[in-house]
Amino acid sequence: MEEKINMLHGAPYNLVAFLFLLTACTVPGPSAPTAIGPTVPPNPNAWPSPTPFSPPANTPMIPVLEPGTTVTATVPPAPTSTQLPAPGFVPSRYTLNAMLDYAAHFLTVDESIFYKNATGETLTALVLAVEPNLWADCFTLGSLTVNGLAATGLSLNGDRLEVPLAAPLVPGGTLNLSLRFDLQLPAADVYHVFGYNDRQTNLVDWYPFIVPYSQGGGWLLHPPAEVGEHLTYEAAVFDVALTLTDPTLPVTLAASAPAEVAAGSWHYFLQNARTFVFSASSAYQTASTTAEGVTVTGYYFGEEEAQARVVLDEAAKALRTFGALFGPYPYPSLSIVESPFYDGMEYDGLFFLSRDFYTAYDGTVLKYLIAIAVHETAHQWWFGSVGNDQAQEPWLDEALATYSEKLFYEKNHPAVTAWWAFRVDAYAPTGWVDTDIYYYDDFRSYVNAVYLRGAQFLEALRGRIGDEAFFAFLKDYAAQMSGKRATGDDFFRILRLHTSADISDLITGFFQIPY
Ligand SMILES: [Zn+2]
Repeated sequence: MEEKINMLHGAPYNLVAFLFLLTACTVPGPSAPTAIGPTVPPNPNAWPSPTPFSPPANTPMIPVLEPGTTVTATVPPAPTSTQLPAPGFVPSRYTLNAMLDYAAHFLTVDESIFYKNATGETLTALVLAVEPNLWADCFTLGSLTVNGLAATGLSLNGDRLEVPLAAPLVPGGTLNLSLRFDLQLPAADVYHVFGYNDRQTNLVDWYPFIVPYSQGGGWLLHPPAEVGEHLTYEAAVFDVALTLTDPTLPVTLAASAPAEVAAGSWHYFLQNARTFVFSASSAYQTASTTAEGVTVTGYYFGEEEAQARVVLDEAAKALRTFGALFGPYPYPSLSIVESPFYDGMEYDGLFFLSRDFYTAYDGTVLKYLIAIAVHETAHQWWFGSVGNDQAQEPWLDEALATYSEKLFYEKNHPAVTAWWAFRVDAYAPTGWVDTDIYYYDDFRSYVNAVYLRGAQFLEALRGRIGDEAFFAFLKDYAAQMSGKRATGDDFFRILRLHTSADISDLITGFFQIPY
């Protein structure tokens, strides 16, 4: 990441060195390691914080409610859950009706969540992640009901909303949660996708959602860290409508799914997805192609049309390559959104890609514009279809997404043999692959261990067990864990279905956990 700033802005900063470009999910970086030295930001205003995964210093985390705050005072009678045990997992269903005042950066949302208790335990409370509450003065809860009755005893602390249940929810029981809330969207800096910038408004992790529950581990809502993503999602069904308060505004919407559009209103349906996101702009131009029956659309700014078309073509190739190697692409569409955000960031059916990658593109294929677009495309399988605990086991999506870049170049640009040097070897990576997001404070060390050592592990594993077993395993792992949350145990359990090779030295060489 570090020298990228120097390179991308074309500035003659010989001293540019260790800039904490801690970003989302990718590993942008120079083709050679950088020296540690003084930071010389090309744009001082672009560096509000060295910890971009937390809100920047000028937007402190201020919960809307103090812990334990009671939102409603009435004590309702016990809700009547539809406590009908049923076999099999029924995904939660999120119905979201949002009204966006684009000019005022203000969103009003009605949300309902159908939830079935598939935890195997009786629940006395639910825990929801409310990421907008990590921004000051952003999230305001109007009401929250459980099965139509006002909830009491709510507590909202940071991004953790705990909803006590008046009646315990037994295994297999279901309930309906309804919320009304407003968002006063924050101005986004280059380290954050959420909010608005001078070109677009991005709605990511913008609604409260019920976090996964792990038997023995409780609710999986981990705190934000200096590096990496902290959220974990269950696969869910989304029925989403977004309406503009001013339907005459010429706003183009990119989203996680194709839209039905009618007079300033967009309606979407998406299933087996972790999250549903939007990006809105009055400046977008679009270009589309299809790959394997999937519509791939680039949303870009006019100055970067040529680069946007390159991204579109290469992402379509990646989609075909990964479809053949991992299994069918999991969604009906893929949106690629150019953003002032400094890196790439994946969501279901949509990813953001830094404008810097577009402007720095020189026409050669081994560039971040392509490598990161391919990386984010791979996340549609490793993050989207196959979920994981991104805080505790980030390697499960990041190592696979990074190694997927290698697979893409191998298949589509076989003459390009410098991927390892460009992306991995230049950093002489060290560290354990199974590092969590809390161990390192700096992005480079984290990426080196999780992404780059992770790619080295997968290459070594492939060499050990052979291509036939390796690719059969990847396809089986993708199929078995589709719609689920995979763990390292799942990875190695399924791997051992496909090989009897001794990989103990690889495990001790790359992992702390003795899988
Ligand atoms: Zn990634």
